[in-house]
Amino acid sequence: MTQPERANDLWADFRDALKAGVSETNWDTWLSRLEPDADGDRIVLVVPSEFHLRWVQDKHGDLVEGAYRSVFGTDAEPIFRVGEMLSSELTLPLDTEEPGPDSAPGRETGEGSAPTKATNLINRYRFESFVVGQSNRFAWAASMAVAEQPGAHYNPLFIYGGAGLGKTHLLNAVGHQALEMYPDLVVRYVSSENFLNDFIESIRRKRPDDFKSRYRGVDILLLDDVQFFEGKEQILEEFFHTFNSLYESGKQMVISSDRHPRNLSTLEDRLRSRFEWGLLTDIQPPDMETRIAILRRNAEFAPRPVPVDVLEHIAGLVSDNIRELEGALTRVTAWSALNRRDIDLETAERVLKDIVTSDEPVPLGPETIIRTSAQAYGFSVEDVLSSSRRQPLVLCRQISMYLCRELTDLSLPKIGEHFNRDHTTVLHSVEKVKRILRSDRAVFDRVNQLTQELRKGGGVSTGS
Ligand code: ADP
Ligand code: MG
Repeated sequence: MTQPERANDLWADFRDALKAGVSETNWDTWLSRLEPDADGDRIVLVVPSEFHLRWVQDKHGDLVEGAYRSVFGTDAEPIFRVGEMLSSELTLPLDTEEPGPDSAPGRETGEGSAPTKATNLINRYRFESFVVGQSNRFAWAASMAVAEQPGAHYNPLFIYGGAGLGKTHLLNAVGHQALEMYPDLVVRYVSSENFLNDFIESIRRKRPDDFKSRYRGVDILLLDDVQFFEGKEQILEEFFHTFNSLYESGKQMVISSDRHPRNLSTLEDRLRSRFEWGLLTDIQPPDMETRIAILRRNAEFAPRPVPVDVLEHIAGLVSDNIRELEGALTRVTAWSALNRRDIDLETAERVLKDIVTSDEPVPLGPETIIRTSAQAYGFSVEDVLSSSRRQPLVLCRQISMYLCRELTDLSLPKIGEHFNRDHTTVLHSVEKVKRILRSDRAVFDRVNQLTQELRKGGGVSTGS
């Protein structure tokens, strides 16, 4: 047998092993599209896009690894590369005993097929540029599933979360990805505000059918910021019919909102309940690691290198809004470009010092935090500050302390003073709440909402 023949056999074995491990759909959509390439004496698995790579690793990583090892040798690690597909004859190496340790030299894919229809999609919001972390993993996975098989899984997919956390990005990514896989689909991204404007315009021009065909004739409707519809009865009525029409014909909807449907208070129940028919998923503020990963990704495009300690500094300053996070990085890189100087921690600190303090309204103080938390739990401020140990008062008190720790830069003893307690009690409470947050969704939601409220408008107290 010649080398290429043997390589072809090995590749066929590998494919068989994969095929045996997944459903036909998964095989057709994902694994059958892996192609082999030779890199020195290693076999590289070439995938069509970064999105594809992530999906394969996430969903079928173990299978691929097992199959790879069983065919190419027990020490072999599958190596991936994003790139154009080979269709020429295989020239795989025979000797696969010692694959090198390097990981795939991932290359960016070129642009996907450019959407020709008026999709309104924002070009740069793609899965490829979406950094996945704990805070958004579920929303991301659901979005990918929807993009892969529109209308088949979750309808609607409803994504909610605070400003700047990636909702618009994900909606657009679904559109791009679905079009890449199914170029004939009709995809439309629209903000709720533009949906309303289109509607008004169609009435003004006495062309209601234009509006209907525009929005009811799509395969995927990506409707952003649906909280905008609150209290606007006529558009709610119209959207209700659009929703039903799309739903009944199995068309996919992905809807975003800054809050859970239950908190869209002026929405009629019939619409609210429809939002819950499919899958509801939230996006949380990113943790430190994700923030750094996002910054690192953005920094790749900076004209001058951004040192890691600068990225960490920025990630430490901005925690609950990715747009602001990117904004802070942009200001630092802009400063360095303007001054033709490399970026270092000291300059970054100086540049961001102004920005952070001037952007911040009035500093948030413990009084406001205590008052707001007490209200949320139906207690008085006196209750929270009292020595009573009954539940759920204790929890409310602990959450207030936790929020003081998170949202102010007061020291533990200083916070303790506000609660007539010592710093070890504060520390204990903070740690306790952190643990509860990881296990109790209701508390998590409550704390999250309080945080958002306080950050948004709470800064009226004189503080410490
Ligand atoms: P939202 O619609 O929730 O207010 P956006 O989708 O507009 O937020 O995101 C704000 C900015 O942050 C955008 O520039 C977006 O690309 C970026 N962004 C958000 N989430 C991520 C992420 N996970 N990875 C990379 N960039 C992100
Ligand atoms: Mg948005």
